[in-house]
Amino acid sequence: MRDRRGLLIVFTGEGKGKTTAALGTALRAVGQGFKVLMIQFLKGSWRSGELDSARLLGGSFEIRPMGRGFINPRALSPEDVRLVEEAWEAARAAMMSDRYDLLILDEVNCAVHFGMIPVERVLEGLAQRPPRLHVICTGRSAHAKLVEAADLVSEMTELKHPFRQGIHAAQGIDY
Ligand code: ATP
Ligand code: MG
Repeated sequence: MRDRRGLLIVFTGEGKGKTTAALGTALRAVGQGFKVLMIQFLKGSWRSGELDSARLLGGSFEIRPMGRGFINPRALSPEDVRLVEEAWEAARAAMMSDRYDLLILDEVNCAVHFGMIPVERVLEGLAQRPPRLHVICTGRSAHAKLVEAADLVSEMTELKHPFRQGIHAAQGIDY
């Protein structure tokens, strides 16, 4: 386990499944004895099922919500930018601690897309991580430079979503 090369993975696109794919990978990784940390950029106020599921896994998987929820990209508040800054510092500290095998930066792609953190800073931080650390970055509109730097990029495409039929977020499926 110690001699592998850590992969940089990006889940992006307009369709549903980015965070779900990251959570599925986390579940798999925990079963292999990995320590997993998910830092949630932008999100936090909405209570999602995975927070309790992670606790049930007994310390191998920690989720840290570090945002407030809804962001208006046309009127970014200094408070939201500060929270992104804090989330990024937490990500850096987690990388440098060398305590984790898999680090998930949920919605970091959106934080970059909204101009809340420069892509160069993210790329520089990722380049300095321990070589064996796997990282997953999720969120729509992944930056081209992040896509270029990544080993694995999957784009979720929306073919159908219940939202189009007026069906709102479903418990246990969407949160
Ligand atoms: P999930 O967390 O379900 O994997 P996601 O990470 O791909 O979704 P986000 O951009 O983080 O998508 O959006 C989170 C919420 O928006 C989820 O409740 C998700 O079901 C919903 N959602 C995702 N894609 C769409 C879509 N194409 N249309 C409407 N709602 C969507
Ligand atoms: Mg998501």
